[in-house]
Formats: sequence, structure tokens, C-alpha cells
Amino acid sequence: MANLDDMKDLHQGAVLKRKDGTCSVMARSPLGEVTPEQLDTINAVVKEFNLSGVRMTGRQQLELKGIPEDKVEAVIERLGVVGTAHKYLVQACIGITGCRLGMQDSMAMGAKLEKFLDRFELPWKLKSSVSGCSMSCAESYVRDVGLVGKKNGWVVLFGGNAGKGARKADVLAEDVSDERAFEIIGKALDFYSENAKKRERTAPFVERVGIEAIKEAVFGSA
Ligand code: SF4
Repeated sequence: MANLDDMKDLHQGAVLKRKDGTCSVMARSPLGEVTPEQLDTINAVVKEFNLSGVRMTGRQQLELKGIPEDKVEAVIERLGVVGTAHKYLVQACIGITGCRLGMQDSMAMGAKLEKFLDRFELPWKLKSSVSGCSMSCAESYVRDVGLVGKKNGWVVLFGGNAGKGARKADVLAEDVSDERAFEIIGKALDFYSENAKKRERTAPFVERVGIEAIKEAVFGSA
């Protein structure tokens, strides 16, 4: 029987145990995109294993539900790749590639942000998103790290949270390039990693240390 704890090569959240004892497996859908071939495979797996269905999660992942624990390994093998390809999941709206209001390429930036975040070992989970304009359809203002596209570049946001104790993120910078946005995010996350308590999300961290301390860490030596 598959031991879920042994599936170390899968990123966190790729397989979840549900209250009813069944498991869920997340098919890989980077930035919410799924190819026709992947959809065919998912459909075939659902039928083959007689699963109860598929759900689109709030984090843009396709969840295959109702999998008996002893079938998880076989489902994963049949699906191919599951979960996120990167350590920290990033959400993104379609941005200029498909939305008339888009100001920046949020999909491309989201893909770059996923890779960029792989270098960090953070104290606790990190939710991030990239929105192509100020409408913020990817909810960037309530993410630990958020980016919002404007005509002249990106707004960089830090310390947001959409859950209990919701907090609107602070603006660290506006009208910055891709490269500058990553420099700022990197410095903010380094400071967070060095000073946060274990399992302290960015929102309570910002409340505790103050946004000015974070700005000083980010821009003090810039
Ligand atoms: S945030 Fe802006 S660019 Fe992205 S989907 Fe919404 S309206 Fe379109």
C-alpha cells in the first residue's frame, strides 16, 4: 500500500488525505493551465479508477477526488506529473495574453516567480499571485507576495492574507521592472526568513515587526 509520507519527491499539497479516509491528488496545472492531452488523461483516470469526480480548487488546481489510499500510487503513475513543479504555488490571471484590461504579462511573470521562489527555505507556507492590472483578479492584494501590473511596470506587494485575520498587503514599490521586482521580493523574503518565528506567515510578521523595518531591510542598502 502507498505510504503518503514516503512520497517525498512530491511537493506539499500534491496528495491530500480527506476526512472520509479517501485521498485527493492534484493534477499539475501550472498557473491554471491544462493541455487537451492532460484533460484526456485526467478523464481516462477518473473512469479507469471509478473516481467520484474532479474539482477546480481555489488555487487553480484540478483535484481528482475520492481515491482509495491504496490506489494513490497507481493514480499518480497513470497521471504522470502531479502537484506543482515548484516549491511554492503561484497563481496568475491571463493578463495581456488574453484580457483587454491587461497591462502586463502576468502569466510569464507568474512562471518566472515560481522558479525564483524555489531558492527560498521559508518559515511557513507562502501564497503568491500575479495580476495583469489593478482589477487584481488573481487577488494579489491578499497574498504573502503579490504583483499587480500597471502601465509602467509592477506594483510589488508584501504581507497580505485572505484567511482568518485577513490583511491587505503593503505596497513595497510601484512601477518597477521584472528584474527590480525580483530584487525587492528577494530582499523582503530574506528578511522574513531571518526574522520570522516558526510557522509565522508574512501577514502577522509584518504586523509584529512593522512595514518600516521591512522597507529598511529592502531599500536601506539599495
Ligand atoms: S487582473 Fe486585469 S488583466 Fe488580469 S484578468 Fe483581471 S482584469 Fe484582466
